[in-house]
Amino acid sequence: MSRTTIQSITVEPLTIPLLEPFSIATAIAGIEMALLDALTRSYGIPLYVFFGGASTSVETDMSIPMVTPERGYDLAKETVARGISSIKIKVGGDLRDDVARVEAVREGAPNVGLILDANQGYTANEALICLEALDNRDIRPMLMEQPVHKDDHEGLRYVTQHTTVPIAADESAYSAANVAHLIEMGAVNVVNIKLMKSGFVEALDIAAVCRARHTELMIGAMMESRLAIAAAAHFVAGLGGFRFVDLDTPMLLAEDPFTGGYEQSGGVYDVSGVKSGLGIERK
Ligand SMILES: [Mg+2]
Repeated sequence: MSRTTIQSITVEPLTIPLLEPFSIATAIAGIEMALLDALTRSYGIPLYVFFGGASTSVETDMSIPMVTPERGYDLAKETVARGISSIKIKVGGDLRDDVARVEAVREGAPNVGLILDANQGYTANEALICLEALDNRDIRPMLMEQPVHKDDHEGLRYVTQHTTVPIAADESAYSAANVAHLIEMGAVNVVNIKLMKSGFVEALDIAAVCRARHTELMIGAMMESRLAIAAAAHFVAGLGGFRFVDLDTPMLLAEDPFTGGYEQSGGVYDVSGVKSGLGIERK
């Protein structure tokens, strides 16, 4: 096997303005992604094999934003028609509106799994009231993500301890040390890893902490193009063991400058056709 050794990597001079902590992690994730792509290309292996090669495909959900029940119903029907088998619904606003939206989505898509993402919008009590109202309507979500403010770890624990619906930390979870603390507290059942929130190396450590403590893994994304979503798909397919996959953002973009990385069918991203690296090209 021929092997190319990387001698050097040139990065265009960067001016980084004042950044939020997550933005710094995002810059790190971008650099790590470029290095991992270059490294695995030089080895002549696809990125998912580098991460362990556990599988060659991942299946994503698709999100429905905070819309009216009527719009939610239509979007649910469209989502099912696309061949998607789980739907993530944005909640965390007015409780009545949220419950009505979830009910409408359930009606439009009776046979798909439902994930709720409150995006820090509830108090602990409101989150429990929402789940109870849904339970009264025979709706049991597979998961509720980030019910309370990211710094309200006690509130997160309270919700987790008072419902049988699995509760995930998203904004509350950004490093291996912080995830270990949340798990130790009994504050979460599931951790949503986002590469743009922690970078790749830290994400590997978060996944290891979760596996060691029998905490389920989810992968999510910011508003990302096919480039970063392909990297996340390779990460998840290669590592394996992710119960929840929320990588739908390329489907929401009007235009995407990238092609390749995976083949899509319905909600399934298949990376088996990638021969080396990330397999992404510019259009
Ligand atoms: Mg989220």
